[in-house]
Amino acid sequence: MAPLRRALYALATNPQLESAVHAVAPVEELAYHAARRYVAGRTLDEALTTVRRLVDHGLAVSLDLFGEGVDDEAALADVVDGYRRAAAALGDVDGDVYLEIVPSHLGLDLGADICRRHVEELVGMLPAGARLEISAEESRRTPRIVDLTLALAAAGAPVQATVQANLRRSPADVDRLAASGVPIRLVKGAYLEPASVAHPWGEETDLVYVRLARQVHAAGSGLVLATHDRVLREALLETLPGTTVAMLLGVREDDARTLVARGHPVRIYAPYGDSWFRYLMRRLAEAQGA
Ligand SMILES: Cc1cc2nc3c(=O)[nH]c(=O)nc-3n(C[C@H](O)[C@H](O)[C@H](O)COP(=O)(O)OP(=O)(O)OC[C@H]3O[C@@H](n4cnc5c(N)ncnc54)[C@H](O)[C@@H]3O)c2cc1C
Repeated sequence: MAPLRRALYALATNPQLESAVHAVAPVEELAYHAARRYVAGRTLDEALTTVRRLVDHGLAVSLDLFGEGVDDEAALADVVDGYRRAAAALGDVDGDVYLEIVPSHLGLDLGADICRRHVEELVGMLPAGARLEISAEESRRTPRIVDLTLALAAAGAPVQATVQANLRRSPADVDRLAASGVPIRLVKGAYLEPASVAHPWGEETDLVYVRLARQVHAAGSGLVLATHDRVLREALLETLPGTTVAMLLGVREDDARTLVARGHPVRIYAPYGDSWFRYLMRRLAEAQGA
């Protein structure tokens, strides 16, 4: 991986830098100015305006509240409340909008049962036809996230999983998820991982991405290609009919519009809230390109 990309990824999980940016108002505003293209808003109301704009352009949306790694009960109560308000608001949007959650944001590190209880409540609030989309996190959380997803699916919850192509365990996870009928959103993977658990970023991950996309498609539970990589995407769309594309808000928006005009369903990941800094650093890393 290019040194700048690696450095920016590492800064995404540097709490000192994050606190320093938020501590000085003009610095925070400057950083938010850079983040704005990737962020649906700092409040739910702003985010809903963004969601409606996307829906008006023929795009589906996954709405997510920024955050991860919540490990105290008081903070978790606030997060759950935020997600409840988001879930309740989806019913007022006339479009194909999913709610997305990051499991460690909803208490996964406090206990899988705690997280599952909150997720089940949110599933119960979703409007008809909407799914709960589950983000993928660092590999140390992957086993618990896959188990949570399978348990929710077994209980009949409309969930969609995210699988990271770079993780060496992903072919086995795809087998288990697809066997349970869980649709899979395939991403390259946004975390720095040791070589023992992950393929290096670049050609090796891209090749696994192709293999996994074919594996998911053949299993028939539903494939979403979540990538901005035009070569990968176009090659796969040609051979894997019925596939949806997912993209991040603010990245290659022209591509999203072109895909919709060509008749491909496109879903945009639209995150909102105050904790946008880590997300900005990851997107700046990826904007460096190959
Ligand atoms: C809908 C969606 C959901 C995701 N959810 C998760 C998740 O739950 N867990 C997880 O680990 N990862 C997630 N990711 C991130 C993913 O793992 C990658 O880190 C990210 O998408 C970059 O990889 P890429 O496939 O776009 O390919 P890359 O090879 O990184 O990029 C392809 C091309 O797109 C351009 N590009 C990429 N990003 C940007 C940018 N920010 N600004 C400008 N140009 C850019 C690059 O210049 C490059 O030329 C998600 C991605 C998407 C699209």
